[in-house]
Amino acid sequence: MRFDVIVIGAGHAGCEAAHASARMGLHTAMVTPSIGSVARMSCNPAVGGIAKGHLVREIDALGGLMGRVTDEAGIQFRLLNRSRGPAVRAPRAQADKALYHRVMLRELRALPGLELVEGMVADLLLAAGEARGVLLADGRRVEARCVVATTGTFLRGLIHIGRESFPAGRLGEAPSIDLAVRLEQLGFGIGRLKTGTPPRLRRDTIDFGRFEPQHGDADPVPFSFGTERLDREQVPCHIAWTNERTHAVIRARLADSPLYGGCITGVGPRYCPSIEDKVVRFADRARHQIFIEPEGRQTDEIYLNGISTSLPREAQRELIDSIDGLSGAEIVRPGYAIEYDFVHPTELKPTLETWRIDRLYLAGQIDGTTGYEEAGALGIMAGINAALKVRGEEPLILGRHEAYTAVLVDDLVRLGTSEPYRMFTSRAEHRLLLDIDSADARLTPHGWRIGLVSAEAYERFLSRYDRVERALAWLGAASRRLARPDVRFDDIEADAGPAPVRLSDRDKSLIEGRIKYSGYVSQARRELDRLALDAGRRIPEGLDFAGIPGLSAEIVEKLARLRPATLGQAARISGVTPAAVAILRVHTHKGNRAKRRHPADPGQ
Ligand code: FAD
Repeated sequence: MRFDVIVIGAGHAGCEAAHASARMGLHTAMVTPSIGSVARMSCNPAVGGIAKGHLVREIDALGGLMGRVTDEAGIQFRLLNRSRGPAVRAPRAQADKALYHRVMLRELRALPGLELVEGMVADLLLAAGEARGVLLADGRRVEARCVVATTGTFLRGLIHIGRESFPAGRLGEAPSIDLAVRLEQLGFGIGRLKTGTPPRLRRDTIDFGRFEPQHGDADPVPFSFGTERLDREQVPCHIAWTNERTHAVIRARLADSPLYGGCITGVGPRYCPSIEDKVVRFADRARHQIFIEPEGRQTDEIYLNGISTSLPREAQRELIDSIDGLSGAEIVRPGYAIEYDFVHPTELKPTLETWRIDRLYLAGQIDGTTGYEEAGALGIMAGINAALKVRGEEPLILGRHEAYTAVLVDDLVRLGTSEPYRMFTSRAEHRLLLDIDSADARLTPHGWRIGLVSAEAYERFLSRYDRVERALAWLGAASRRLARPDVRFDDIEADAGPAPVRLSDRDKSLIEGRIKYSGYVSQARRELDRLALDAGRRIPEGLDFAGIPGLSAEIVEKLARLRPATLGQAARISGVTPAAVAILRVHTHKGNRAKRRHPADPGQ
């Protein structure tokens, strides 16, 4: 078998990578042990949230799938931070897991250039320092001009439930050992991380009357720019709490927890801790929240968001029994922790191609991230860049001011990570420019240029901005009124009559954001321009980096060793953060001023 691009894995990164590559006209293979597990949601049945929802909008704006699929498979939609500024508003949806898989599979199967191959990749085919394909465990050779590996938690995956531990990629799925060994033999820097998942309960054994319901929005906001409306009945989630009894059970069984019993060496996600971690680290808290989330409309399985655990099975039973309304509920699947190998992302170029092996790209959890959205964003970028490489074109490297996706890639490849990396709005220094409404303005032209965005989507994008510009012109002097926090676009229309163009809610939200926050956004743009100007600013020779307060020892060491001549060069050194560049800028100003004064001032 011979292809242009092979994608190893059909998780959230793999699906986006394969879709991007095939849509860009490349003959693509997506290899996975089982087509039945395409786009499986390994953990929570939800997509989006703050910063993660931003990533999904960006995937959509580039022409990817996750937003569209979530809109179709979603059973509850909420726009988070509705009352706050547009930069931090983000969509989140509960998804029907089985439907998510089916819709994704349907979309992938509809792509003429994409072939789904069932098999386990055991080895990489290499020649002259380049990836040339893969070898499957059953002996089949699949050749290609680029390979994208998106193996998630499968590399040397090891599941822990109490003192029980066994190799697996996810519960019920075989791990990927041979490929992990091969990557290590090739000299890749490999680390070990862990993550965990809560027990699942049977729906009709839970007493929902005991819990506070949480409903979706009355006017649900879609993820995809292509989804007009979300007309469907939404399902509620429920909120429960742990209590002193629950915490007593956990404390009593801590010695049997693999994490505290010393069996797990991998580092876990700081922002998604297990219930054991929460009880130990926040010992003064009397209770912790649990979101009771359905895994679908038809399925009987209920997900307990907030109590990921790897306690022994009988301790999980006691834990569930300690909570009113859950007591006696049937545990369909136990919670567990999984440890797995990841490749240090400093092994990657900003295109996600590895430095070590040409034409080999890595994306998703294998890069040290956690979450479907991070995986999807890395997947689409790896798929795009593999396709561009095969086409012999320039790679697509987004700027940090353009997309959270760029912040994700840039943070990983420059700084690396020692714990599962998750996106936050605070990671983006230009976050005021990265609101969800503007994702299409930022990214759709890129997606169109490279052939990933369809003609229909591009047409829709152009006509949206035409409508928005016409509405802004119509607003004229009324825009001053709209700048007030309590005034909405609908209020202006109620007084002045309807705008001359028909606007969607999303158009109105974009216009309101542009007017209400124009001061902040202009300031953010000025800052950006200043940074661009500063890229060429010279760093005085002999500047004593160690004497500059605020620079970490690691950054000082790198700057002293590599001696960048300009701020732009300093910013490109792996590990030198934007904050460090800002500090350097102040000191180059000082240094350059002193230097300029020196020869001109005989009195000095
Ligand atoms: P995956 O979705 O894992 O997909 C990997 C794909 O690669 C699969 O299709 C697999 O079959 C395939 N594959 C692997 N090896 C091979 C091979 N050799 N040959 C062919 N195919 C192969 N994220 C959070 O944000 N919060 C959480 O709390 C959280 N908890 C989690 C708990 C558990 C138990 C697990 C397993 C994951 C959890 N995650 C969590 C992570 C989330 O599931 C992942 O971040 C996301 O699925 C990563 O997507 P991916 O595409 O990189 O990998």
